[in-house]
Amino acid sequence: MVTMPNWLAKRASLTPDRKALITKEETWTFRKLHELSKIAANKLAAIGIKDGDHVAVLMGNRPEFLFLLHGLEYIGAVAVLLNTKLAVYELCYQLVDSESKLLIYDDIFEEKAADIFTSIEVKKVRLTDFLSIEEGNADIRSEWQLDRVHTIIYTSGTTGQPKGVMLTYGNHWWSAVGSTLNLGLYSDDCWLCATPIFHVSGLSILLRSVFYGIPVYLVNKFEPCEVNDAIEKQGVTIISVVSQMLMRMVADLGERKYPKSFRCALLGGGPAPKPLLEMCREKEIPVYQTYGMTETASQIVTLSSEYMLTKLGSAGMPLFPAQLRIEKDGAVLPPNEAGEIVVKGPNVTIGYWKKEDATKKNIIDGWLYTGDIGYVDEDGFLYVLDRRTDLIISGGENIYPAEVESVILSHPSVEEAGVVGKDSVEWGQVPVAFVKLFDSQTATKEDIIAHCKERLAKYKVPTDVFFVDHLPRNASNKLMRKELRKWIR
Ligand code: ATP
Ligand code: MG
Repeated sequence: MVTMPNWLAKRASLTPDRKALITKEETWTFRKLHELSKIAANKLAAIGIKDGDHVAVLMGNRPEFLFLLHGLEYIGAVAVLLNTKLAVYELCYQLVDSESKLLIYDDIFEEKAADIFTSIEVKKVRLTDFLSIEEGNADIRSEWQLDRVHTIIYTSGTTGQPKGVMLTYGNHWWSAVGSTLNLGLYSDDCWLCATPIFHVSGLSILLRSVFYGIPVYLVNKFEPCEVNDAIEKQGVTIISVVSQMLMRMVADLGERKYPKSFRCALLGGGPAPKPLLEMCREKEIPVYQTYGMTETASQIVTLSSEYMLTKLGSAGMPLFPAQLRIEKDGAVLPPNEAGEIVVKGPNVTIGYWKKEDATKKNIIDGWLYTGDIGYVDEDGFLYVLDRRTDLIISGGENIYPAEVESVILSHPSVEEAGVVGKDSVEWGQVPVAFVKLFDSQTATKEDIIAHCKERLAKYKVPTDVFFVDHLPRNASNKLMRKELRKWIR
């Protein structure tokens, strides 16, 4: 049984006066963060939360989320992090499934919360009411076991019903260790958190801050100009982004260049379109492509900066504590052959909450079968192709929709693109594209097809293009190709 001292208490004793949390309005030191988290723990105790209880949180990126998260750690309760964009029906499912004893919700979700309570029975408390609860006497833990569950986070539900991923204290710890062994740690580091805390992407930034003793610059709502200002003027050195965020930041940056102090834009969450990567290379933006998932407590594979130019488009190599292999039909494949990405490491989840079958199927001898397809080159660099379920097989050839989408996206009139397979008597399946154009732009089906023909093998070129106003996305803004398949006429 491996134990560690209470993380935040330890950090507050080591470097109490260092900045822990920065928002546009206010700054908190680690001492203050520790004090406020103790208060949160005492309030949780006052309303009967005990060691091992599951407590759901429905909250945007606000400072109180941090106090609450650490408060829950202090008690030994498990935080169930809910995506605020989920529909009431989906929230009810996750609340019931996770067996949450209490829901703490941000006042701005009052309406959603009211609808939840007409559907299911769960104890609730609004954030402002929580803050005014008189403190009880929490038994603050001085240490914790690394194999205990720290958080339950549901997967995005891109390929099916979201699954509750159990992440342990050890998973989070090792994820942060792996990250810094790759990125390094500078004394002036400051990590901007604009991705949601309810995702591992945001949560992992908060935890790294405590481990590394560096501040989190917390952004409530992503606005490219605010984020650029934080990088150019407020000393932010690292930021975690998904491609849409980075695209908007680059557009806002215009002709300007980022200062040298900005040393890492960690880009993950989904496929990175090549045109974006090329644009960043031109503008000397230090992009670190990364691959990970809820099940790996954030990144597990990352492209180190020295390979940024030579391995453009690769997600990199497994982090120091992690391993990777590519498998097909039970055999490990040699370089340059595409198969399922399988990963292992101390940051990999112990399993899905109450889903023993899915756990047994996806995690075998510590190896996680990701459901993603990719290959490694002869130097061991991973290239993520797509999800197994979205693969299109046409005349015996594999087509990865992400590759076709990336090409369509490089057309200047295209804002969004989604590609799926359509049944074909002749070929089995053929790719078809759904395209959303920028408001002021026009393009015809023939334009898009001609653009693809110039850049793709013939069998990958969409046989049809449908122009649409929006593409089906889930609460994590991910393209849901399973919905798109239903749109095929
Ligand atoms: P569900 O598992 O419920 O279908 P999800 O897989 O979208 O949802 P997340 O854990 O949020 O849930 O997302 C992880 C997935 O995102 C990965 O398995 C992969 O498909 C995709 N992804 C992450 N990073 C990359 C990347 N660099 N390139 C391509 N895809 C990526
Ligand atoms: Mg998944």
